[in-house]
Amino acid sequence: MSRISEGVYFIKGQDEMIPDSHMYVIGKPESDDLSIIDAGLMGKGNYKINAMLDAGIDLNSVKRIIMTHTHFDHIGCLSEIRENIPRAELWVHENEAQSLEDGDDKIVYGMEMFKNMCMAQYDISPDTFKFHVDKKLQGGEHFDLGNMDWEVLYIPGHSPGSIGLYNKLEKILIPGDVVYSDYAIGRFDLHGANGSDLKNSLLRLAELEVNILLPGHNRVVTDLPPNYIADTAKQWASYLF
Ligand SMILES: [Zn+2]
Ligand SMILES: [Zn+2]
Repeated sequence: MSRISEGVYFIKGQDEMIPDSHMYVIGKPESDDLSIIDAGLMGKGNYKINAMLDAGIDLNSVKRIIMTHTHFDHIGCLSEIRENIPRAELWVHENEAQSLEDGDDKIVYGMEMFKNMCMAQYDISPDTFKFHVDKKLQGGEHFDLGNMDWEVLYIPGHSPGSIGLYNKLEKILIPGDVVYSDYAIGRFDLHGANGSDLKNSLLRLAELEVNILLPGHNRVVTDLPPNYIADTAKQWASYLF
């Protein structure tokens, strides 16, 4: 686990044949009110928990797990994480919360072929991705999380309930899989994805002042060039409709 800034910590995803999303832990150390952003790939729960313990985090101070979205590479090890932190709440955007509560895993896997592959490879039983959601997010909320103000941004397109988290004071954006380093964006061909929504979400993010970009995969960028997200949106515009 590495420190991005005071109150923002990073556990790098451990990609295998399938990627493992990064995990971020937010909240000032003295607050006793930490939040986990995204879990990761199935089987990566112990790795992520051990990284937190090695960094001296008291797991009792983790109060919630916030999902940027519920794809397999982000939610796969949620149950493993929750075995260690059973009292942590689960926060998900309302557009993905209902299917999660119903045990409908179409968004989790994104496509039938991928579902069959994962279920065979990880020996997954049906209803593995059925969870009670403690808070259904809409976007637009501001939460005091661990003595930091975080705004929830509703940025669909990569998935129907994708959210980002934005800290205006430190100009930090956690966009999930909507935008990455190196002018890359999230795929928009999976179940519930929509290219035109993704374009609008990128344009929305382009209006924010962002210095630190903490995406779900690939490089973390701590000195983001001005207009980076606008330039990314422009490069992809003709593919997004
Ligand atoms: Zn995704
Ligand atoms: Zn991902």
